[in-house]
Amino acid sequence: MFIKKIGLISLIFILFCSFNINCYADMVPQSKKVLYLTFDDGPSIIIDEILTALKQCDVKATFFVVGKEIIGREPTLKRIYDEGHSIGLHTYSHNFKKIYKDNSTFIDEMLNTKALVERVTGASTNIIRFPGGTSGHLTEGMLNLLHENNFKIYDWNVSLEDGVNPSLSEEQLFKNASKCKSCEKSIILLMHCNSNNLNTAKAIPSIVKFYRDKGYDILPITDSTPEYFYRINKQGT
Ligand SMILES: [Zn+2]
Repeated sequence: MFIKKIGLISLIFILFCSFNINCYADMVPQSKKVLYLTFDDGPSIIIDEILTALKQCDVKATFFVVGKEIIGREPTLKRIYDEGHSIGLHTYSHNFKKIYKDNSTFIDEMLNTKALVERVTGASTNIIRFPGGTSGHLTEGMLNLLHENNFKIYDWNVSLEDGVNPSLSEEQLFKNASKCKSCEKSIILLMHCNSNNLNTAKAIPSIVKFYRDKGYDILPITDSTPEYFYRINKQGT
């Protein structure tokens, strides 16, 4: 009778959990696998929704910000920082023709954005992401210059695809986020927070739960995170 009662309680608990979708993991052993949630192109008007979702899931993320987008949105950038997320640099103009014209323009864009972030938050950051990724843009010369300036580069290995298609549904975004080939290693997930990425915040709880269930820790990228970037373009300088 007692065992039956315990069984019934467990069943009610399981049913309750399966209907109550939240960000929290079921009971699984933890491992050293890490998921880095990374948001490009902010700050923007939709940051509030993203920060609220991250707070509800109790996770910290990384925001690769664009210098020109900070102007007029300084309090938003400060809020991102104050809530414990890490801030990375994503150039000042995000204008491909301009930023990839030559190495010194690219470095200047990063340095200008770094100075702006420092002025607003009081904190210095050296983590960067190339608009469009390093593929085809990162040369040996550029890498040396970036390292001379203490910058660390982070591409991604899974993408939400919300940059190429901002109108994807919440379900499609989750599907893309969970498309990790082996789900055996650390994942840097590319997400966007442009003003038209309206479903991205909604997809956060299911993505967080999916990876927590797989034993991932979810952390922000910091200076001590190993660099991650694609092949160097041997043709360039
Ligand atoms: Zn971008």
